[in-house]
Amino acid sequence: MKIGFIGVGTMGQPMLANLIKRGCQTIAFDTAPAALEAAVRLGAERAGSAADVAAAAQLVITMLPSSANVEVAYLGTGGVIEGVEPGQLCVDMSTIDPGTSQRVAARLKERGVRFLDAPVSGGVGGATAGTLAIMVGGEAADLEEARPVLATMGGNIFHVGAVGAGEVAKLCNNLISGSVAVAVSEAFRLGEAFGVDPQVLTSVIAKSSGATWVMEHMHPVPGIVESAASNRQYAPGFMTDLMAKDLGLAVGAAREKRVPVVVAPAAQQLYRMASSHGLGRKDFSAVYQFLKPSSDDAPV
Ligand code: NAD
Repeated sequence: MKIGFIGVGTMGQPMLANLIKRGCQTIAFDTAPAALEAAVRLGAERAGSAADVAAAAQLVITMLPSSANVEVAYLGTGGVIEGVEPGQLCVDMSTIDPGTSQRVAARLKERGVRFLDAPVSGGVGGATAGTLAIMVGGEAADLEEARPVLATMGGNIFHVGAVGAGEVAKLCNNLISGSVAVAVSEAFRLGEAFGVDPQVLTSVIAKSSGATWVMEHMHPVPGIVESAASNRQYAPGFMTDLMAKDLGLAVGAAREKRVPVVVAPAAQQLYRMASSHGLGRKDFSAVYQFLKPSSDDAPV
């Protein structure tokens, strides 16, 4: 079976590499010539468009930055829809809004083409190691067909529900981790301001009700958790700009369903402000750097 891969950037490239390592025949396309060149060097066949990928492959995978990119790659001129055959299966692994997944799926269905949304968690490390968590929306039978291919890229594969449900799960997860990371940063800035040793504060919180995976693994204060991005000048990891994007998607999805959300929009604005202060391409734990106290003589 030939696998088509559209979008071979930061995440797509190591995911494609794992497919090739497992002996899969692949054909790739990316609008960025350098990214496509790197995919060809890995061993993928070169395609001239998303439509060409769809025409040559039995299974099409997409890994693109945004909802707009996904609409263009599937439904635009030279898009997947121009190359697919009835019965074919497409799997979009990008993090986008669930409504877009559903719209793309509906348009493909008119052509007899099946679609799964399958966003991932685990970052570049997980993509390289082939241990991504994959959250899937769509028909169970379609997931079973795609599972052996997905298993070359990820360890934990969850069937969440109908098309769009994988994206919902991904956005819910990032709503929590993005909001919690802000709370952890605020808490450690507060502790510091009163002279509390951050190492001691970490030990207290780890055994108290504020304990959280985000503090345990992504501690924003350098020198406490060895593997955290804060110990590598906040090199990502997961970029501040991507977290702002994902929180924006979560807030948009909540608005669509009239679900009140208060914390997530505030967290999103903080990441946006951190980005406008030059931290957009740093790990999202760098929001801690942005939350410095103002000077002692500022009015309170
Ligand atoms: P990226 O920008 O590094 O790569 C995306 C690639 O898609 C680029 O090479 C770009 O040229 C290409 N592209 C854009 N539009 C295209 C089109 N119409 N046709 C063909 N190629 C096109 O982004 P990334 O970091 O790989 O992220 C991809 C997705 O994965 C995003 O939705 C992101 O939120 C999600 N994600 C990223 C991470 C991470 O740590 N980077 C972790 C989990 C999920």
